[in-house]
Amino acid sequence: MTENGLNGKIALVTGASRGIGKSIATKLGNMGARVAVNYNRSKDEAESLARLIPDSMAFQADVADRDQVNRMAEEIHSRMGKVDIIVNNSGYWELMDFVSYREDAMDRMFAVNVKGGINTVLAFLDDLKGKGIVVNIASNAGIGTAAPNTTLYSITKAAVIMLTKRLAFDLRDHHIRINAVAPGWVETDMTIGNKNSSEISDLEHYFRSRTTLNSVGRPEDIADVVAFLASDDSRYINGQVIVADGGRIDNLTHGI
Ligand code: NAP
Repeated sequence: MTENGLNGKIALVTGASRGIGKSIATKLGNMGARVAVNYNRSKDEAESLARLIPDSMAFQADVADRDQVNRMAEEIHSRMGKVDIIVNNSGYWELMDFVSYREDAMDRMFAVNVKGGINTVLAFLDDLKGKGIVVNIASNAGIGTAAPNTTLYSITKAAVIMLTKRLAFDLRDHHIRINAVAPGWVETDMTIGNKNSSEISDLEHYFRSRTTLNSVGRPEDIADVVAFLASDDSRYINGQVIVADGGRIDNLTHGI
């Protein structure tokens, strides 16, 4: 990939205060982009990150709230300019057995994971027309895994995949390129939360054993794929989902 391939570009990365989003923002910044670092609650982390990326700034918005996203768009336009690249990374999950279904949890996951992407693309649609790029962060859960207690979250990520395909189709006359990355298990606050080291080790062992590469993911593994999709190197790719999950066995074969 061209080292300075994003020189002159402005990229908005939602949920960039921590985890995978932080790594994506750093990578795009290293490729020359100025980055609008979105956060919802982690102000200090987002502002610290923005200081590390040249000419970048942090912006607060709950992506699930359309008014907040529209307000953030106004702020980005006045303080940075028009956005060329959007990475819809913000995500929320609650693990639960299907029979323990809670409507409030489902609603929140849908609002952040699905409506968040819709709100953001709509708020920046005029910016994107002509040559804009959108990368949605889905999940291999949205394709189908046997990971326990992820049924409801998986449904929202399947919706992200369909949103990606449909937007590539619906916005084709505006020449906006829209793709998705579907990560496998990556160790972040989302997946390890408040777990102790023994629980983390068990989780890593389980998820590693489910991959053909015998490996769990790191945020950088996902950021590198996003960087490809955000760059001109992927210019002939549209409406696709790249699965970055170490070759998850569930999706490759029946049996074992
Ligand atoms: P994480 O460590 O929990 O970080 C989540 C990020 O999303 C934080 O920066 C958080 O910001 C932000 N966020 C949450 N709700 C938001 C909202 N309503 N508005 C704006 N920002 C919001 O999660 P992660 O593991 O890095 O996940 C990043 C993305 O990858 C998510 O879409 C997730 O579903 C997806 N994914 C993760 C994995 C994995 O194994 N980790 C696997 C597949 C897919 P604040 O702290 O400011 O609230």
